[in-house]
Amino acid sequence: MKPVDAYLAEILGTVRPLDALELALLEARGCPLAEHVAAPEALPAFDNSAMDGYAVRAADIVDADDRPVTLPVVGDIPAGEVGVFAIPKAMSARIMTGAPLPAGADTVVPVEWTDGGVARVEVRRSASRGQFVRRRGEDVDAGDVVLRPGVRLGAAQIGLLAAIGRRTVTVRPRPRVAVISTGNELVEPGTQIAPGQIADSNSYTLTAAAAEAGCAAYRHGIVPDDPQAVMSAIEDQLLRSDMIITSGGVSMGAYDAVKEVLSQLGTVRFERVAMQPGMPQGFGVIGDDETPIFTLPGNPVSAFVSFQVFAVPALRKMQGLDPMPRAPVRAALTAPLRSPEGKRSYGRARVEPREGGELAVTPVQGQGSHQLAHLAWANAFVIVPEQVTELGAGETVEVMVLEEPQGVVSTGGR
Ligand code: AMP
Ligand code: MG
Repeated sequence: MKPVDAYLAEILGTVRPLDALELALLEARGCPLAEHVAAPEALPAFDNSAMDGYAVRAADIVDADDRPVTLPVVGDIPAGEVGVFAIPKAMSARIMTGAPLPAGADTVVPVEWTDGGVARVEVRRSASRGQFVRRRGEDVDAGDVVLRPGVRLGAAQIGLLAAIGRRTVTVRPRPRVAVISTGNELVEPGTQIAPGQIADSNSYTLTAAAAEAGCAAYRHGIVPDDPQAVMSAIEDQLLRSDMIITSGGVSMGAYDAVKEVLSQLGTVRFERVAMQPGMPQGFGVIGDDETPIFTLPGNPVSAFVSFQVFAVPALRKMQGLDPMPRAPVRAALTAPLRSPEGKRSYGRARVEPREGGELAVTPVQGQGSHQLAHLAWANAFVIVPEQVTELGAGETVEVMVLEEPQGVVSTGGR
């Protein structure tokens, strides 16, 4: 059996970052940046008002705290005003948020500190020089690097790119991942199920997991345990994929078509990895472009765990990211957990903060590799080292926390 770390190292030694691509801003959402982005101009580009109010000289209203100061209003400056404007001494101009500060003014008095006058304004509070003025370059200086390679472009980063005038940006594209389920027993969810058949859940799990890992995921669906059919499905998907994931058909069974057909190519290796769940694994490259392919075991929990442990780091590397950015966290185990000798276990569990900030981790009751409902309650794996066969309640353990699916609210224990 091959140790998990050695197997993962081989995988990471094989996959390469995808070529960078220039995309329109919104198409680049979620993708890691592949360039240094510098601001061509300062932000803000000109001194402007932070409030709706009156542009004044602070020196003209120093006494306003003792008794109101009245100033003539020489004009209106809305946002977007481009005309050159200057105010004479001891005068003011009505100004809106974002409008350019007129020459001669150094301060903005919010409308709330005045009587709101149009021809003349009564100012009731003094202001310090420069108050409520957004200075040119106060956000970004011209030439500043504002985003660096590797940053994932979310809403704020995309907004910043637009603000500095970018329409496109160079990123690592989302890996295109095709997911294929194999098994004669599989039928589409929601269709009539004959005795002995089951709904294909793996292709849904794995397609969703690939999407959560930042990929453009495509579910090919069900392929029977027939070497010819498996090969043609793979060839079909190769054309439009940066990675192929199959599930099923890689153990020691008589109908393990994936193993049968890919073994002959010699570019995919099938191995027994010292882990639980997920011992039978296959990985390699296929086709002219040497597209990575994972052949994951069919048991639903094994497929899911294998994806998280092996495919997620590979996909991160393909996106130019650190394959494993987060170290396991430490948590107190609330119930005992067993593990087979010589294998690293990924015990499905739910991790939750305790009062005082410590983490507690509770293994799910059903640790079978077919127990999907128990998996669905878990949000973490307890990592049990190879040489450890039993962990007791109260022990501090290492936990791999799974990313919370976005928009889903925890519904508590079961
Ligand atoms: P296999 O790896 O093909 O021997 O399958 C191992 C177990 O996983 C069997 O019980 C299969 O019925 C089950 N299985 C395989 N593929 C899927 C799938 N796509 N969805 C749900 N269960 C599956
Ligand atoms: Mg099978």
